[in-house]
Amino acid sequence: MATAIRLRRFGAIAAASGAVYYTLLSNPSISSNDRSGGGPFLTAIKQKITDPFSVVPSRNVQESALMGSSSSNPLDILVVGGGATGCGVALDATTRGLRVGLVEREDFSSGTSSRSTKLIHGGVRYLEKAIFNLDYGQLKLVFHALEERKQVIDNAPHLCHALPCMTPCFEWFEAIYYWIGLKMYDLVAGRHLLHLSRYYSAQESVELFPTLARNGKDKTLKGTVVYYDGQMNDSRLNVALACTAALAGAAVLNHAEVISFLRDEANGRIIGAHIRNNISGKEFDTYAKVVVNAAGPFCDSVRKLADKDAKMMISPSSGVHVVLPDYYSPEGMGLIVPKTKDGRVVFMLPWLGRTVAGTTDSNTKITMLPEPHEDEIDFILDAISDYLNVKVLIHESSAAITCLSCRS
Ligand SMILES: Cc1cc2nc3c(=O)[nH]c(=O)nc-3n(C[C@H](O)[C@H](O)[C@H](O)COP(=O)(O)OP(=O)(O)OC[C@H]3O[C@@H](n4cnc5c(N)ncnc54)[C@H](O)[C@@H]3O)c2cc1C
Repeated sequence: MATAIRLRRFGAIAAASGAVYYTLLSNPSISSNDRSGGGPFLTAIKQKITDPFSVVPSRNVQESALMGSSSSNPLDILVVGGGATGCGVALDATTRGLRVGLVEREDFSSGTSSRSTKLIHGGVRYLEKAIFNLDYGQLKLVFHALEERKQVIDNAPHLCHALPCMTPCFEWFEAIYYWIGLKMYDLVAGRHLLHLSRYYSAQESVELFPTLARNGKDKTLKGTVVYYDGQMNDSRLNVALACTAALAGAAVLNHAEVISFLRDEANGRIIGAHIRNNISGKEFDTYAKVVVNAAGPFCDSVRKLADKDAKMMISPSSGVHVVLPDYYSPEGMGLIVPKTKDGRVVFMLPWLGRTVAGTTDSNTKITMLPEPHEDEIDFILDAISDYLNVKVLIHESSAAITCLSCRS
């Protein structure tokens, strides 16, 4: 696992996998090593995490490291939450030479980070916005996303790969529009390009994607434009981040929940957290100069532990994915519905021998296991059925995965 991870720019993984929702209770006394020039510190860590015989320290060792901190000898950073964001933060910080601890109350990646659409977006939709709104900020975002996409695939090629995605066109203007747009996407990618996009005739398209409808949306298929994005094994990538952070020296502990914060009696500043090991039931204190709140959709509940009067910041939304049998999509080729009836994007992607279709975006309550609603499942099946020559039946969708995220 760790052998494939390059030390340069670890933060890339976290940035591509999740937005950073964090509260830094900062302390200016923290200093970090500059990784840009390498140096002996970085070389030593690189050797450690790329050594195939390196072993992630045991759970007991990690717990002892967290318990070993004190008010006079605190960690530099304590991260709350072991999703993509928290593990990315921990890895980034530890490779900068900081003493880092991370606690996750369930298992690593048990939250949003294991229930994504599994795409490593290069930001094709931001490009559309950048062009139509002449928005340089959006364009910068595309450059950044494309660079990060390539970096994640290079860092963890065993968990991420380039995935061709087919865009069906039932009008000639659509074919021209998407061809031009996706060629611009290739151009903007420059040296970070995965593969060139290309147009396929209707006949070539159905050969590549046998379930694609020749007559969909009451129109004849004119052709498709296939472009490349990244696909990742989100949960394993998350666990790889946690393990690599641990190999690099961070103390990472799953099934350990922050239940309250410790304060400096003199000035009220947060100086650590009271943690419960949810397996043994044991409770202990961990001291840190900075606490990072990387609890994703649960950020507000962690903020409330620090300040019971804190105003809620998170506006939660949930997204549903439907898991279909494998024959809905060929192996190694995804399909994108660029505009559903209400203007949304729906993907249909091969995933571990099945087809995953989604997603939706609806208001929801915050729970660890959000339930999909029937109308959300119907919406997805309806959106893809226009594009397929097989009838999409509700009883065929073996599972619906719901996932929480936050709108800022
Ligand atoms: C429907 C949907 C599809 C998506 N698709 C993609 C995609 O294709 N590609 C992509 O890159 N991104 C995608 N995303 C976004 C991505 O999944 C999220 O940005 C990312 O997973 C957020 O990670 P996180 O670490 O911030 O949150 P989470 O993964 O939710 O992690 C937060 C963790 O904090 C823990 N926690 C909470 N309270 C405590 C506490 N008191 N003590 C200890 N631990 C605590 C929780 O148990 C949880 O594991 C998608 C999001 C959604 C909703």
